[in-house]
Amino acid sequence: MPPATPSIAPRPTGCPGLARIAAALDGGICRVKLPCGELSAEQACALADAAERHASGVIEVTNRANLQLRGVQAGAEHALTEALVDAGLGPGGRPDSLQSPDRPAQSATSLAADDVRNIMVSPAAGRDPQALADTAGLAREILERLRTDTRLHALSAKFALLLDGGERLAMLDHPHDIWLAAMPASDGDAPLFAFGLAGCPPVAGSGGANRTALAAVPLQQASAWVAALLHTFLDLAGPGITRMRDLLAVRCADELMRHVEARLDFPLLRDETIGAWRRAPADASLRLGAHPQRTEDLWHAGGQPPLGRLNVTSLRGLATLARELGNATLRMTPWQSVLLPDVPSCNVAAAIAGLTALGLACSPDDPLTRLIACAGSTGCAKGLADTKADAVRLASRLPAGAEVHLSGCPRSCAAAHCAPHTLLAVAPGRYDLYRRDAQPEPGFGHCVARHLTIDEAAAHLRRQPGSPIDA
Ligand code: SF4
Repeated sequence: MPPATPSIAPRPTGCPGLARIAAALDGGICRVKLPCGELSAEQACALADAAERHASGVIEVTNRANLQLRGVQAGAEHALTEALVDAGLGPGGRPDSLQSPDRPAQSATSLAADDVRNIMVSPAAGRDPQALADTAGLAREILERLRTDTRLHALSAKFALLLDGGERLAMLDHPHDIWLAAMPASDGDAPLFAFGLAGCPPVAGSGGANRTALAAVPLQQASAWVAALLHTFLDLAGPGITRMRDLLAVRCADELMRHVEARLDFPLLRDETIGAWRRAPADASLRLGAHPQRTEDLWHAGGQPPLGRLNVTSLRGLATLARELGNATLRMTPWQSVLLPDVPSCNVAAAIAGLTALGLACSPDDPLTRLIACAGSTGCAKGLADTKADAVRLASRLPAGAEVHLSGCPRSCAAAHCAPHTLLAVAPGRYDLYRRDAQPEPGFGHCVARHLTIDEAAAHLRRQPGSPIDA
């Protein structure tokens, strides 16, 4: 069967983007993709100014470590995009569509270059003491390929890559179309990158027996391998196939790898060591509070905005903290939180105090660090309940250690990973409670109680097996 020829035009998508303002109940949504989750203090202030002038001022950290502005005013879309691009938040330069709105073909290309900037790295990449490799350079190289190779703009706006340097602070439960993870080379040489498709890296002791690496490549060949794989995906993806898992449903991984190797002038590395390799466990709590970096006397300090939402005041405040106490940059995380990197020891206490004063939770003991909620009925027409307000109500009743995801409908926009408990809205103020007992378990897990109020849900959570109160 001859390969399908993909269109250069971006695939249809309802995902918000920099210049594609998606409609919502509370106004438009503009998503700003941040390379490696990084935002300079200057950009943070420009983004706050734009959110104040052209939108509602609500700024959300997304579960892919990006930012999105809610409540974009009708008629202000173009000015908003222009302000963000002027702040250097575009895919690389000013979109042609802004310079010449009557050139639709170039407009589509610019939009597509924004859409495909989907690479996740650890928010502590290059700084984490446990890391085997610094993924920032590789991420930059692949982002540049995604920007400049227009054929790759045909990828779905949801098609995403994970570059895992082996950091202790890492999101490993969020499935990606392609993942690469640093592993030690058997000869003690520079680390290799093991890789896999449509899933997550295997983790020691996690019980994910179905997770294994397909093969590995040396770091210096990883970017070329990614490019070959992306082109192979586009060669083989027929109509309706937009994600790697869709392609794997009709083509096996070995066949894909044969196509990839035909594009390369180096072999993929395969042996028992690579197949048996598991990365060291991660610790998501390191996103909160202060933790030492690889370099002596430097720390990162992190906090969780309540339910992932900032406002213009808190974003400007974070920019000030970054300038005065850190390295003048911020890092967004896939837990919808914020890190201040490169904080000298002498500034650590002030950084935590500053984050706390801005309303960010800096301790895993704070229940707001264990709750996520989608926009819910105040922001989304599909929402059956006000998940944000209900999550705040639940926070004061949440048992110690319980992690809960509140979703306004089954689409689960807030959680790309699988939360231990999910409250799925069925009516205003009413939820079905789901629990995941083992991995893998489809969807939200199994339903343990129906049509609960928030107070009833809190009582059920206290009685769940494993709850400290239940013991
Ligand atoms: S999960 Fe449903 S209700 Fe919540 S934001 Fe997504 S589509 Fe809307």
